[in-house]
Amino acid sequence: MSYTRKDIIEMLSFTKEDDLGRLRDEALSLMGKEVGNLVYYRGIIEFSNICRCDCRYCGIRKSNSKLSERYTLERNEIVDTALWCADQGYGSIVLQSGERVDPAFISFVESVVAEIKERSRSEKLPKGLGITLGIGEQSRETYRRLYEAGAHRYLLRIETTDPALYRRLHPKNQTLENRIECLGDLKEVGFQVGTGVMIGIPGQTLDMLARDIEFFRDRDIDMIGMGPYITHPHGDMASEGMMEKEALLQLSLNMIAATRLVLRDVNIAATTALQALVPDGRERGLGYGANVTMPNLTPIKVRKGYQLYEGKPCLDESGTACGSCLLNRIRSVGRDVGFNLWGDSPHVNKRKVLIGNRG
Ligand code: SAM
Repeated sequence: MSYTRKDIIEMLSFTKEDDLGRLRDEALSLMGKEVGNLVYYRGIIEFSNICRCDCRYCGIRKSNSKLSERYTLERNEIVDTALWCADQGYGSIVLQSGERVDPAFISFVESVVAEIKERSRSEKLPKGLGITLGIGEQSRETYRRLYEAGAHRYLLRIETTDPALYRRLHPKNQTLENRIECLGDLKEVGFQVGTGVMIGIPGQTLDMLARDIEFFRDRDIDMIGMGPYITHPHGDMASEGMMEKEALLQLSLNMIAATRLVLRDVNIAATTALQALVPDGRERGLGYGANVTMPNLTPIKVRKGYQLYEGKPCLDESGTACGSCLLNRIRSVGRDVGFNLWGDSPHVNKRKVLIGNRG
């Protein structure tokens, strides 16, 4: 079935329980058919909060002078955490950080990726951990190096595809055009490409969100990670406020379901920001058609330094506690976890003919 812009806007605007019930049922049934019912873990390691960017919404933006401690984890801390994930049966990890483009940083990430790839190979995971990177806008050459080092997925949210809203959120040197070019470069290099938007940004309309979904579809995106926009007290946009929590949660869930229905066979994450709104936010995301979730494995000693927005959950919970709590939560909504699997989206396999296989 194909959906018009009007159809998408209608889905996004649902608030009545009978409409929502139908939306959930359709999204879950399509998810079961297209990607299956398993939930895949991506253990996320936020390995540095040093950032050269000044995104107005973000707690780790360069100009946030109230963020007193800027950190980068030691190589062995990142590798050990990744190996812990492999040991626990998480088939994949995400390495995320603020944005740096200096050669020392890129070489560091490249060698960490290569080491994790090499050392995580086992009988359970013959190709090692699936490695996703989220380190922002880089040159095509850098993307190529990181891909060759062993990362095979990359997350770069477009944040919003509306040009005027994008300009309002970012300084002049951070352009929507460059972000779009990066997504093209990533695909050309061979990465499975993930993108997404923040939902409920002041000034954002349902029409803009519907166009965001069309952008994901038209760009043949493989993975979606989107979540509610939540103010950060030291973000530059705190005074503009945010949507009321219940409405923001529902809009975010409707976005997940609408994206599932329009894109069908992609992976969609139930992101941590949903859990910042309500304790069971991620499970609710799974109930609207998401099939990926990201246990936070950032060492507790630095976790408070990676507060992108207010109320980020699990600041004091160890990886083990986080993982078992999450497993119970997932099972409580009738789903199970795909352990020791990469869990690539079927969408990727369908377009592999175009981009070449990677093992
Ligand atoms: N530097 C990398 C990049 O730009 O892709 C990754 C790190 S960046 C902090 C990760 C994501 O955090 C952004 O893409 C953005 O959507 C999200 N984020 C930042 N501030 C946020 C906020 N106030 N509310 C919700 N999400 C936020």
